[in-house]
Amino acid sequence: MLTISKYTFGVGDRFAHQAQAQLRACMKAAEHGVTVVPVWNKSNREHTIIGSEPSSVRTAADAAVKALGWTKPYHVDADHIRLETVDRFVAPSDFFTIDVADNIGKSADPAAVKAFVDRHPQLVGELNIAGIDTAFRTTRADVERVAAKYLNAVQEAGRIYRHIAAAKGEGNFITEVSMDETDHPQTPPELLVILAALAAEGIPLQTIAPKFTGRFNKGVDYVGDVRQFEKEFNDDLAVIAFAVKAFGLPASLKLSVHSGSDKFSIYPAIRTALRRYDAGVHVKTAGTNWLEEVIGLAEAGGAGLDMAKDIYVQALGKLDALCAPYATVIDIDAKKLPSEAEVRGWSSQQFTAALRHDQSNPGFNPSLRQLIHVGFKVAAQMGDKYLKMLESCEASVSRNVTANLYDRHIKPLFIDG
Ligand SMILES: [Zn+2]
Repeated sequence: MLTISKYTFGVGDRFAHQAQAQLRACMKAAEHGVTVVPVWNKSNREHTIIGSEPSSVRTAADAAVKALGWTKPYHVDADHIRLETVDRFVAPSDFFTIDVADNIGKSADPAAVKAFVDRHPQLVGELNIAGIDTAFRTTRADVERVAAKYLNAVQEAGRIYRHIAAAKGEGNFITEVSMDETDHPQTPPELLVILAALAAEGIPLQTIAPKFTGRFNKGVDYVGDVRQFEKEFNDDLAVIAFAVKAFGLPASLKLSVHSGSDKFSIYPAIRTALRRYDAGVHVKTAGTNWLEEVIGLAEAGGAGLDMAKDIYVQALGKLDALCAPYATVIDIDAKKLPSEAEVRGWSSQQFTAALRHDQSNPGFNPSLRQLIHVGFKVAAQMGDKYLKMLESCEASVSRNVTANLYDRHIKPLFIDG
């Protein structure tokens, strides 16, 4: 079976120009003795907004690996696919994020629920899991309720998995199931039932993306109770270790943290928990890389800075339309958004201070950052003009892309010293 490495990092590259800069961040980790495997991910939603094809992600990844001589594994992730969107991803991808969040809560066949609970008597009653202080105490009715909520989603994941396996062959790809794009977090006892059901469905699951407690807004820090997150994350790791043995899931199974970029306040908790359990993790980042492109343009000054300003000004003019698809994952305070006139007068340094995710910088403006985060459609509409500018500002863009991934993300999570 194609087995996922312990530490993997989802790197989004919306305009297919940063694969080398992203790979350089993984090479820096390797220089410090830590293997962080890059996974280039791009969702169907991003492809649709930009007008790109999944094969372009594979082309860019292969070219970067070849150019830099990377000899460790790397993958291309068909991110957030469903049965109706997966087909054009099948050939170029070797990692599939099967998104079944929309099926959560859809009614499941009562006979299937009963059969599932009958086959898993160990889920009912008192369950002690190594690493979790308080035993799970569940009644048969509790397990039936959780199974009824998630079984439809699990069965849909099975249909999508088998559809991919029929085309690519079993064992030739990595399977993730994502349930993060929903309103309510899955608790560790729910995760246990979900994993039992995914195993019973015959899915060789290697990463699972639950919805965690708190808000994972795009491109900015975690909002929520860090201690509660820490407990949940630790308990999830304990549940996964238990489920691997109890249900025969792949030993490589690990958590996947979606919208994982920029969540600086929870990285220490994640780091400590991974060490405690000797566990792996997959962290997905996407838009943070596009934001670094804009920072790189601004830092270059001249025409690059002008284009960065154009992107902001146009995004400001389309505020409502750009934010609508992301309403649940952004928190923009419109009153804090600077006017066109103000931004037109900014220097490189003022623009990058507002946009770069450095919370200690008094110029940092999270509302502006989130607006530009969802504003990549503006750059997509600029077409070749935007791509040409990326190329002429390549030095400052790639410097920022690499530094952001390595210094602010990979280093605090994985690197000692
Ligand atoms: Zn996601």
